[in-house]
Amino acid sequence: MITIAKASQLPTCDVLAFGPHPDDIEIACGGTLLLLHKLGRTVALVDCTRGEMGSRGTVADREQEALAAGKALQAKARCNLDLPDTGIRNDDNDATNKVVAAIRAVQPKLIFAPHERDVHPDHTAAAQLIERAHFLAGLRNYQPSLGAPHRAGTVLHYPGNQPVEPSIVVDISAIVDEKVEVVRCYRSQLSPLDTGYLVQGLDLLERTIVRQQAVGAMIAVRAGEGFCHDGPIAAGDLSWLLG
Ligand SMILES: [Zn+2]
Repeated sequence: MITIAKASQLPTCDVLAFGPHPDDIEIACGGTLLLLHKLGRTVALVDCTRGEMGSRGTVADREQEALAAGKALQAKARCNLDLPDTGIRNDDNDATNKVVAAIRAVQPKLIFAPHERDVHPDHTAAAQLIERAHFLAGLRNYQPSLGAPHRAGTVLHYPGNQPVEPSIVVDISAIVDEKVEVVRCYRSQLSPLDTGYLVQGLDLLERTIVRQQAVGAMIAVRAGEGFCHDGPIAAGDLSWLLG
């Protein structure tokens, strides 16, 4: 896993996952990304902000934790766009161009992005920013200096701080312990002394475990990660439904 300073220098990968803050990707899709890696797929991670407004942990702590988590996820590369924490704007041109540069550099077939229905304004804004940038990334005449035009075949949105009915649930039971170890890399976010400010009253690891069990129960497995797709997903035939 390498840390990339500029989005335009990210390597080509099959999968690109965006997180508004360091730790969002791991909580929402850590298991799915581990499974994709085991299938031989390459993954790049892009954090929008450094989480500097977080109630716990310094920016330096969170940078080290994100590096460790990226390694544990077997990601090929990780990059931080350095957008302002609590100040992501969906219509900011510099921010848009950073996301466009990431998409064009990685040329992913599949993108993971936050779901816009979320109590944290950064998650909503990041979802809208990524959707806008993904469209613009495919326009040949939009900022050609940011790389060759590209759009991913599929974009999956992951719920963040509030539940959203998923279109797809990935069974992560087989690697759930490995995923928990990935989330544990964010030590500064765990074991709070004062829980009054926590979203939903749970720390990050508790929230991850409770959420993945509840989502897994939707498809009768021990742990799952849910994703939303805009519109129908194409299927050549239904043989995959026959086991
Ligand atoms: Zn977040």
